[in-house]
Amino acid sequence: MVQQPYEYRRRELVEPDWRRLPGWAAVTAGEWQSAQWQRAHCVKNARQLREVTGAGLTDAFLADLARDQRDRATMSMLIPPQMLNTIAPQVPASCAGFTDAWYADPVRRYMMPVFSDRQPQWPSHPYAQRDSLHEAEMWAVEGLTHRYPTKVLAELLPTCPQYCGHCTRMDLVGNPTATFGKHKFGLPREDRLTAMLDYLRRTAGVRDVVVSGGDVANLPWPRLESFVAALLAIESVRDIRLASKALMGLPQHWLSPQVRAGMSRLTATARARGVSIAIHTHVNAAQSVTPLVAKAARAMLEAGVRDVRNQGVLLRGVNADWSGPAGKPGAGPLLDLCFALLDEAGIVPYYFYMCDMIPGAEHWRLTVGQAQELQGAIMGYLPGFATPRIVCDVPYVGKRWVHQVARYDTTRGISYWTKNYRTAIEAGDELALGREYAYYDPIHLLPADGQDWWRARCAA
Ligand code: SF4
Repeated sequence: MVQQPYEYRRRELVEPDWRRLPGWAAVTAGEWQSAQWQRAHCVKNARQLREVTGAGLTDAFLADLARDQRDRATMSMLIPPQMLNTIAPQVPASCAGFTDAWYADPVRRYMMPVFSDRQPQWPSHPYAQRDSLHEAEMWAVEGLTHRYPTKVLAELLPTCPQYCGHCTRMDLVGNPTATFGKHKFGLPREDRLTAMLDYLRRTAGVRDVVVSGGDVANLPWPRLESFVAALLAIESVRDIRLASKALMGLPQHWLSPQVRAGMSRLTATARARGVSIAIHTHVNAAQSVTPLVAKAARAMLEAGVRDVRNQGVLLRGVNADWSGPAGKPGAGPLLDLCFALLDEAGIVPYYFYMCDMIPGAEHWRLTVGQAQELQGAIMGYLPGFATPRIVCDVPYVGKRWVHQVARYDTTRGISYWTKNYRTAIEAGDELALGREYAYYDPIHLLPADGQDWWRARCAA
């Protein structure tokens, strides 16, 4: 029998034992399950990481981390114990290979990037931008992006319980880093949220609201509940999606009695009105799906949420690798993640986004061609309804399935895309639908003549 490229095997979820880490050796199960304890013990710098891991991580690793925070990082460090505990889960801190396991670990690679991870020649693409999707340009009112005709993105707040190194909203979200300041909202939060609701009340063409940030888990529950309740009172709103990576990073929040009871109230109103409320989360690696994460997802489904869906990000060295036969993309990490989500947590794999063109992202990004290969490699294993689409979020266009590319210059790594709707800033632009919009592959992955072309262009 010839082996399948991917062998499905059901894997039991594991909550790694946090007591293997010296700093948490005395932490009780009760403390671990408290959202408050988790928030109070997030790791924010190399010194705190040393306190948790003891002598397990070498000085060289910590210096590599500190150098990245000083010279490259677009996001400050913030990682809840729940997430940190999934890094190198099998390796005790006393083991000689602890640092190597951390360097190689998928969760560490995107939550705690180190300087040596970054692409040395082209750490940033020449066309990288802080707000690479131009969301702020499309704000109908401050924080409310109206890009697609029938749906909007409401950025309620600029913080999260965890900060991802590759965050696409690095312009707005999180604390300033040594090299990147952050855009600050001009209006106080209450004024912004009121303006968003007013806009939606007078814009009947919008039926779908993504309630995001940041992460809605950082908004005090009563305020989030009242905002969603106000959305439910708007006749034209039919779909509400709450964006929270914390369902995975801080499941303790979504398991709290206050949140569960509040969600049940909201879904009861939604059901009565025929509106659907879903949660969209962001999980990039199978090891992040632990029993607590599955419990939180199921708690939300029991509270009446229609679906919990995953929008992961396709990241080299995290869930995308080329270790398959003859350099073919290995679908294993993506499929392992999708099956863990679907089989064990009831979370629907929905999208994998290509990593956006923000500064410092080149070591994570893939070419459009590689993303197309990965899309092909994952087809046929999952049920159709749970087979994620790999999408490219093309500036000024929006999400496009990677096979929708109109033209593709693989030497220079430039793909061209078209669209079938106008964004809010193109209402008077008759040519918007006839234009092609460019997206750029990482230069270090191009053939030699493509790299030479970019070098000459940048030198000119
Ligand atoms: S949770 Fe989302 S918004 Fe927050 S840092 Fe991560 S990617 Fe950015």
